Amino acid sequence: MTRLADDLRDLVEGEVRFAAGDRALYAAAGSNYRQVPIGVVIPKTIDDVIATVGVCRDHGAPVLSRGGGTSLAGQGVNVAVVMDFSKYLNEILEIDPERKLARVQPGVVLDSLRKEAESLYGLTFGPDPSTHDHCTLGGMIGNNSCGVHSVMAQFYGPGSTMAQNVHELDVLTYRGDRFAVGQTTDEELERILASGSAQGEIYERLLELRDRVGEEVRRRYPDIPRRVSGYNLNELLPEAGFNVAGALVGTESTCVTVLEATVHLLESPKVRTLAVIGYEDAATAADHVPAVLEHKPLGLEGMDETLAEDMTLVGIHDQELSLMPEGGGWLIVEFGGETKGEADEKARALIAELEKDKRHGPTGTKIYDDEAQEAHIWEVREAGLGATAFIPGKPDTYEGWEDSAVPPERLGEYLRALGKLAAKYGYESALYGHYGQGCVHARWNFDLVTADGIAAFRSFLDEASDLVLSLGGSLSGEHGDGQSRAELLPKMFGDDLVAAFREFKSIWDPDWRMNPGKVVDPYRITENLRLGTDYDPPEPETHFAYPDDHGSFAHATVRCVGIGLCRREGGGVMCPSYMVTKEEKHATRGRARLLFEMLEGDPLQGGWRSDEVMDALDLCLSCKGCTSDCPVSVDMPTLKAEFLSHHYARRLRPRHAYAFGLIDKAARLASRAPGLVNALSRGRLTAPVMKRAVGMAPEREMPEFAPVTFQKWFSDRGGPRVQGGKKKIVLWPDTFTNHFHPEIGVAAVEVLEAEGYRVEVPAGHVCCGRPLYDYGMLDTARRYLERMLELLREDIRAGVPVVGLEPSCVAVFKDELVKMLPHDEDARRLSEQTFHFAEFLDEEGYEPPVLPGKALLHGHCHHKATGGISSEQKLLEAMLLEVEAPDSGCCGMAGSFGFEASHYDISIACGERVLLPEVRKAEPETVVVADGFSCRTQIQQGGTGRQAVHVAQVLQRALRPADAAPRPPTASKRGRKALALAVGGVAVLLASWSLAGWGIRDS
Ligand SMILES: Cc1cc2nc3c(=O)[nH]c(=O)nc-3n(C[C@H](O)[C@H](O)[C@H](O)COP(=O)(O)OP(=O)(O)OC[C@H]3O[C@@H](n4cnc5c(N)ncnc54)[C@H](O)[C@@H]3O)c2cc1C
Ligand code: SF4
Ligand code: SF4
Repeated sequence: MTRLADDLRDLVEGEVRFAAGDRALYAAAGSNYRQVPIGVVIPKTIDDVIATVGVCRDHGAPVLSRGGGTSLAGQGVNVAVVMDFSKYLNEILEIDPERKLARVQPGVVLDSLRKEAESLYGLTFGPDPSTHDHCTLGGMIGNNSCGVHSVMAQFYGPGSTMAQNVHELDVLTYRGDRFAVGQTTDEELERILASGSAQGEIYERLLELRDRVGEEVRRRYPDIPRRVSGYNLNELLPEAGFNVAGALVGTESTCVTVLEATVHLLESPKVRTLAVIGYEDAATAADHVPAVLEHKPLGLEGMDETLAEDMTLVGIHDQELSLMPEGGGWLIVEFGGETKGEADEKARALIAELEKDKRHGPTGTKIYDDEAQEAHIWEVREAGLGATAFIPGKPDTYEGWEDSAVPPERLGEYLRALGKLAAKYGYESALYGHYGQGCVHARWNFDLVTADGIAAFRSFLDEASDLVLSLGGSLSGEHGDGQSRAELLPKMFGDDLVAAFREFKSIWDPDWRMNPGKVVDPYRITENLRLGTDYDPPEPETHFAYPDDHGSFAHATVRCVGIGLCRREGGGVMCPSYMVTKEEKHATRGRARLLFEMLEGDPLQGGWRSDEVMDALDLCLSCKGCTSDCPVSVDMPTLKAEFLSHHYARRLRPRHAYAFGLIDKAARLASRAPGLVNALSRGRLTAPVMKRAVGMAPEREMPEFAPVTFQKWFSDRGGPRVQGGKKKIVLWPDTFTNHFHPEIGVAAVEVLEAEGYRVEVPAGHVCCGRPLYDYGMLDTARRYLERMLELLREDIRAGVPVVGLEPSCVAVFKDELVKMLPHDEDARRLSEQTFHFAEFLDEEGYEPPVLPGKALLHGHCHHKATGGISSEQKLLEAMLLEVEAPDSGCCGMAGSFGFEASHYDISIACGERVLLPEVRKAEPETVVVADGFSCRTQIQQGGTGRQAVHVAQVLQRALRPADAAPRPPTASKRGRKALALAVGGVAVLLASWSLAGWGIRDS
């Protein structure tokens, strides 16, 4: 292995990674299977790919290509050298609008191609898997992918699946021959055969094979839109134009490596209309598929009541589901047209016709005009896998029989029979998917850890495959055979055709080194299971309680099902570190997988002390994006905090962990002499020393301590000014508001008191412990929480609302508190009666004063993960502000992450993705609103020249007369005297910061 790696390093310009962590990272994709690769190569150029295959050939090592790694049938993992095309080989090389063709590298993400083709030429691409924003063209070619708009490609383009949508492929064989393949005219064929080249030899053997098995292919291949199982030998038939590219599509890396692809584009309809039609149940909805197809829609999807119920149980898409019409099963139909009127008319005509069926007709129908609503309906449909994997109160579910397809006219019959068969085994699943092409998605509660359970799973597959074949269907209607279906192929195609598949593979890969054991001569379905009968992970004692994972840290590490949404290149919050690095290990999935591997113990060793896991978690910003954006709510901040606490148990942490993690203590000391601290932390000579001492990036500025803390201002003014009032509330003086931006606290008090609330601000040293989680100081964090509960106990029990200004601190109350102390009733109460500032006002039905103008609103990621920023937006809009809320994701500062020297570049890259450019673009009179301390700091220090404000300050501004601009609290005379006397305190502060790394422990 070392020689292989060394030889690769000699010849490959890209990255060659053979360490245990790299191999563990690629051991699983989206399927039930786990195989640890030999090593990983991330090629930078096509020459790198050629060199990699060459070196592997010299060593006899198998190879496996990889795109987004979202495959669900086991074809994406193997004991091989994995080539990851997604990081570098992702260029759209050319779009030819005349010929409607695009030439791409294999690592191009489908949505990148669609966006460019649509925006430049009004063209689009047909097959679009639900993973469209992170799956690659190479992977789609490997799997012969399809999608919602395969129906559009069927009616208005070259055909349903990738096989028909690929024009030409540039391929490389394991033996090192490279040539272009596509449909072959007679003249071309003659030329190739006469050339004496490797291509000629391969073509000759393919022709011979085709002539020998052609009749059997015609007889046994079902003529349905979604026959994805088996090799596409039908593409070699004369009537298909001896389409060698089509035949290689769907070979799942078992025959060739695709170096470049030319694919067909089609006209994108100018406008689209979405209609949803409800029926009594999903099977009845499916019975009406042929009638809908008569109307030639662009897309025709279906879903059942169980999927809707599962989403409700999981707590997702509640609002979106309310947009669906009455029914127990739905058809989601998309029409296109030149004008909205034309598209709407098609939808209305369809509904009118369907409503003629008085006995089994629709129970409800709806046509959507609003683009946002249409997007929500697609979100509901695409939530399928995520919504069905871990449903509270139900057993976990798995792939295995998740994409079978039948002729669309027999879909209703299939759904009824499949439901009965599953009931016999005690299996349950939502049934949804591409009804328009007879393809059904399901995820069943197989037992994949006991011998009996695995035997039942295998037996179910036998019966389910018999059922689908009896209806003229296909084992796979979109995800491919991999290992999940390959063993069943003889049933579908017969021994002769399976022998032909073997021969087809041998023609391309005589050494049998391309993704061996998949599709042909496969591993058994029950081999290489990621769980399996030997799955027995350690169950370590943990700080958090993992209530959604039955109290099991190990279960929390299997939660990632590999959907890969955390590999999106933009949109939402998850996952900022992937967005800027394009590295698997810096995506939520990579981190979750390494934590799983840490418990497996091979090849990843060292348990909690693992440097590889530490390395992957290092760039996690703990932004909580995954807790809300990941379809199965992988909670990486919690897992990271847990890991760090064990990783550093009885060991010293790096210096910055103490400096930033214990910022509340440092700030308290600094408040004795803030002026002096500020002078030192900004002084030309002293600042660099201080920054170095605390591990801060030299490019950053230390935030400035306010002359007077918010708590002091509040007590100096005599506490609450409203006595009695309409309601008592506790305004939480978080460390950041208290010590750095007390003017925000002042603004909040003014706004709340103006509304007649009696505002109390807890006195003394109070802190929720937010920064402690980022460094895994969980013993200390627990003590902070207990202290906080003690302090607030009376108010908690009296039901007094606690309002927070700093979103990340409110998130501790709403999130970490109950995860850490799940059995403490006061903790539960407190989490339920804590509100973000705008959220509280919104719930109270507050009517804000007006302040016409423009606002740019950026939401803190913890805010988005714990309720969202719709209240902020609503409030600002009610003030008559024209609000723009760009999809800015994480600002990149993420608490102290962006202050740390080793994270500065990543932090700025995250900010530069959307937020900082948007702020720079904003007109000077636009007020920039950001409730988070870190977001405001990033905006201030990110070269925007702007200072963002809290929503409370915007309200304060509107309440005050124009000439009374809000002023931050200033130090009193007494305070200034104290300042002068506090040099000793500062010395202690500096000492504590700089010496922290050598002295302080979490416990
Ligand atoms: C939630 C979810 C929803 C899905 N929905 C759909 C859907 O609607 N329709 C659908 O068709 N699929 C769907 N899939 C399956 C999967 O997303 C698609 O098949 C997708 O096209 C795979 O792309 P990828 O980039 O992730 O490929 P990968 O998984 O990385 O690879 C797929 C196959 O292609 C091979 N491959 C990759 N690159 C190359 C190359 N350069 N040369 C040769 N072979 C290569 C791989 O070895 C592998 O066998 C879904 C999966 C998930 C998890
Ligand atoms: S972390 Fe979530 S989004 Fe990412 S792959 Fe896993 S399940 Fe999918
Ligand atoms: S917390 Fe943020 S950075 Fe970390 S894995 Fe989740 S989304 Fe990615």
